[in-house]
Amino acid sequence: MMGRSHLIIGTGVSLSALQLMGMQVTAPAVTVALIGSLLPDIDEPNSLLVSKALPSSLIRLLQTVLLPAAVFVYFYVQAKPWNLLLAILIGLVSFLPSRSLRKVLMFAIGLGLVFYGHAFAPWNLIAGSLLMLSTTLTHRGLTHTLYGTAVWTGLLYTTTQQQSPEIWVAGGSAYAIHLLADSLTNRGIRPLPPLKLRIRANLMSTGTKHGAIVENVCVMLTLILAWIAFSPLFL
Ligand SMILES: [Zn+2]
Repeated sequence: MMGRSHLIIGTGVSLSALQLMGMQVTAPAVTVALIGSLLPDIDEPNSLLVSKALPSSLIRLLQTVLLPAAVFVYFYVQAKPWNLLLAILIGLVSFLPSRSLRKVLMFAIGLGLVFYGHAFAPWNLIAGSLLMLSTTLTHRGLTHTLYGTAVWTGLLYTTTQQQSPEIWVAGGSAYAIHLLADSLTNRGIRPLPPLKLRIRANLMSTGTKHGAIVENVCVMLTLILAWIAFSPLFL
């Protein structure tokens, strides 16, 4: 399913549910619902979340900067032959396809968070490690399981325990709805590995004409639900 549909369905359904349950739809709840609806696809470098956080322009800039950086390293790093090896390595990275370069960048940001993000302790360690880990995962792997849902919801729960419950309910349900939406596709999800159990409604495959119709129907249903939940506020 496309990121745009995930964003609308995940956020729309979770916030409508919040409203229907009589909970407050606060700005932090909306924020975590938006993130939660896209977060499972962090294991896919070309997904909406990752490509918005690390846009193509940034990747192109990185590619442009890396070549002069390689030359600089070659001439200014004194330790031979490491300067040559390092320069070749940096040069090679600049020629990686943007998908792989995004992974390299995610890994570097994760590493940076772990080592330099002390101000956010201990969350720098958790977020940094998760970011590095996610670059090694195959798409629709660990992030598309009940374990992934539990970790994300648990993180929200423990960090926002002092505040109202809207935040973890909105974030957790938006994440779970992403998995439900993916289970409509022909590929489905495996919610409890290593168990072979696969949830797969086989209604659509992403990127096809038929798939787009199914996605649009889900989006329409979400908008109707949102109307039912929120229209009494305005009438
Ligand atoms: Zn997904």
